[in-house]
Amino acid sequence: RVERILVSACLMGRRVRYDGAAKTSDDALLAAWRKEGRLIPFCPEVSGGLPVPRPAAEIEGGAGGAAVLDGAARVLTAAGADVTGAFLAGAHAALEAARASGVRLAILKEASPSCGSLVVHDGAFGGGRVPGDGVTTALLLRHGIAVFGEDRIAEAGLRLRELERAAAPGERRDPV
Ligand code: SF4
Repeated sequence: RVERILVSACLMGRRVRYDGAAKTSDDALLAAWRKEGRLIPFCPEVSGGLPVPRPAAEIEGGAGGAAVLDGAARVLTAAGADVTGAFLAGAHAALEAARASGVRLAILKEASPSCGSLVVHDGAFGGGRVPGDGVTTALLLRHGIAVFGEDRIAEAGLRLRELERAAAPGERRDPV
């Protein structure tokens, strides 16, 4: 079977970021996967009900997405509005979209409070970053979906090959 890949919609040119912009990736591997019909563009924050544009939000205290999933941290705007519910709704919508297509691999925008996988903002709205992941990433990881940022697409390619190689023997129909 062809492995499908969930991708942050902003990396595919959709203008869905908080500031109304995109973060289009020009990665050659991503372009190849797009041609192969593997990519499922998804924006958790828009799916969670937030508008474009919207106020920037950060996980309080720079906690990771797991803390939000467990109710130990909130997602707040700089003005202190609690948008945790929309972030959780978006994360669950992303998981449903991934499951519907048998996704085992995701390429998500680094440092986002939804999509980050290695770093997130520190919650002080000053541009500081700390190690951690976003709410959607944390939920996908809990459900066995591997997540790579846009700087790690080559690594994701290796994982894709592993997944396809592991799937191949059972699917082969050629006579031996
Ligand atoms: Fe991009 Fe994810 Fe932010 Fe949506 S939530 S704009 S997909 S980084």
